[in-house]
Amino acid sequence: MDPYPSLDRRGFLRTTVHIGALAGAVAGSMLLGGCNSRPSPATSTTTTTLGPPDAADWKALGASLTGTLVLPTDPSYQLDRLLYNSKFTQLHPRAIAYCSTPDDVARCIDFATSRAVALAPRSGGHSYGGYSSSPGLVIDVSQLSAVSVDTGANTAVVGAGARLIDVYDAVGRHDRLLPGGSCPTVGIAGLALGGGLGVFGRKYGLTSDNIRSVRLVTSDARFVTADAATNPDLLWACQGGGGGNFGVATSFEFNVHAMPQVTLFTLQYPWAAAPTMLEAWQHWLGTAPDEIWSNCLLLSQGTSGYLAQVGGVFCGSPAEFASQLAALTSAIATAPLNSFVGSNDYISAMEIEAGCSGLSIASCHLAPEGQLSRSAYSAKSSYVNAPMTPSQIALIVEAVVDLQDEAPTVGGGLAFDSYGGIINRVASDATAFVHRDKLACIQATYSWSAYTPSSEIAAGERWLTWLGTNVFDPQTGAYQNYIDPTLDNWQSAYYGANFKKLVKVKRRYDADDIFSFAQSIPTIA
Ligand SMILES: Cc1cc2nc3c(=O)[nH]c(=O)nc-3n(C[C@H](O)[C@H](O)[C@H](O)COP(=O)(O)OP(=O)(O)OC[C@H]3O[C@@H](n4cnc5c(N)ncnc54)[C@H](O)[C@@H]3O)c2cc1C
Repeated sequence: MDPYPSLDRRGFLRTTVHIGALAGAVAGSMLLGGCNSRPSPATSTTTTTLGPPDAADWKALGASLTGTLVLPTDPSYQLDRLLYNSKFTQLHPRAIAYCSTPDDVARCIDFATSRAVALAPRSGGHSYGGYSSSPGLVIDVSQLSAVSVDTGANTAVVGAGARLIDVYDAVGRHDRLLPGGSCPTVGIAGLALGGGLGVFGRKYGLTSDNIRSVRLVTSDARFVTADAATNPDLLWACQGGGGGNFGVATSFEFNVHAMPQVTLFTLQYPWAAAPTMLEAWQHWLGTAPDEIWSNCLLLSQGTSGYLAQVGGVFCGSPAEFASQLAALTSAIATAPLNSFVGSNDYISAMEIEAGCSGLSIASCHLAPEGQLSRSAYSAKSSYVNAPMTPSQIALIVEAVVDLQDEAPTVGGGLAFDSYGGIINRVASDATAFVHRDKLACIQATYSWSAYTPSSEIAAGERWLTWLGTNVFDPQTGAYQNYIDPTLDNWQSAYYGANFKKLVKVKRRYDADDIFSFAQSIPTIA
């Protein structure tokens, strides 16, 4: 059944909520009947706000879902409420709804809006700001995770809760790739709605550039499709406008690409060569073909010392990559401590990039289902528009040394991820993703464990603040998918000149600002 006919879902669902409040669970047959017809004005109830929900109302909501509702009294609640970043363990939603159909999503939105309960959509739960949790209802779409591939059309339909590793696995089985990010447990919705940069980005674009259409449930519980012909402004906003702003996405249709041969490379240098490495890398990247994606890492690894590394992916064979590699290594002019260049299949390459090489796809998930752990971290991002000067590079290297000095047992530092290629050939106003003239994105992070002294965690936080003020250039912007609750000018940093249009789209699809969090798109600029 297609749940996206031109049906006024809000009127329909308001009727069911009222009946549900009186009689408990809503009968499935009523819902099915309603899906095929537009309710007459007489049966469509108004938007009367009900009182705050009591235990019976929550129970009725749970009973009305095809999926499951987890309440604080349920044994799994303590695990279900967690996000990826363990610094958000204090967040306790009133309930978590595991929606297994778009209808479930609509019921949850209707319940929350009619009862004035705060809500937040959740896909993979990796929001840097913890914005996929809420003191009210978390609308979790992780059960909407089916992936189907049309090899003739080179498209894939992906459920909004699919994890990246499962998407890569599913499209890879059809010899196709979807450009996306590295972390295997990130959810496709959060990634794609805010951009999505990964190792195939320069050749095939951002994940958001590959969206053909999105299906969403809007704040008035309507099913909406956004594509080039229908609601094109909403499609535009969903291509980089950031998750959690315009509705709950239930699925995406993406362009996928025939899989090229993939060559991975990693070069690790002595820390003393870090300035030369960064200097050479940025100039090399500026003239590299689209087939090369690369990043440059300058890290303090706690008690293991420093890491200075250049690595990446080339779409082609090692032999085809050889001259490019030689150009880089001769410009760095120092012998690497370790180097690796090798051909890989797509899935192995993505597993290596994801840091779960050697594990099965099933194990590349968070425990307890998989073998990966959550982590606690803070981050800040900026962009490099043009090659940095030697003094800027010296400051960056010094900053990593400072982190090691101030917080010797935390891990952290700076990662430069290449932009350019096809990413930069899209006009900055063609989609909501504005960052189209960048050489690289810089991300500063530090992470800690349960054993890290609180003084070092505080030192890491001071270090990030200092970088944001003294090293990063606020005029270059910040990446909205590395959403940063401490950023003051986030509107211009994430969205630049596209912010005004995002506000207009917000007014059209969420005039009551139901999808709201500290850095959500407002209804008034
Ligand atoms: C370890 C790690 C590695 C990363 N690597 C990369 C990378 O390589 N490249 C890159 O580009 N980014 C990367 N990111 C950043 C990542 O893209 C963002 O954190 C992204 O928002 C996470 O999406 P999610 O669905 O997992 O998170 P969530 O926390 O579930 O969602 C993020 C935001 O989107 C909203 N949202 C979630 N689901 C929906 C939905 N169905 N409809 C509408 N809104 C929704 C949430 O409310 C929240 O505001 C990484 C993050 C982490 C933690």
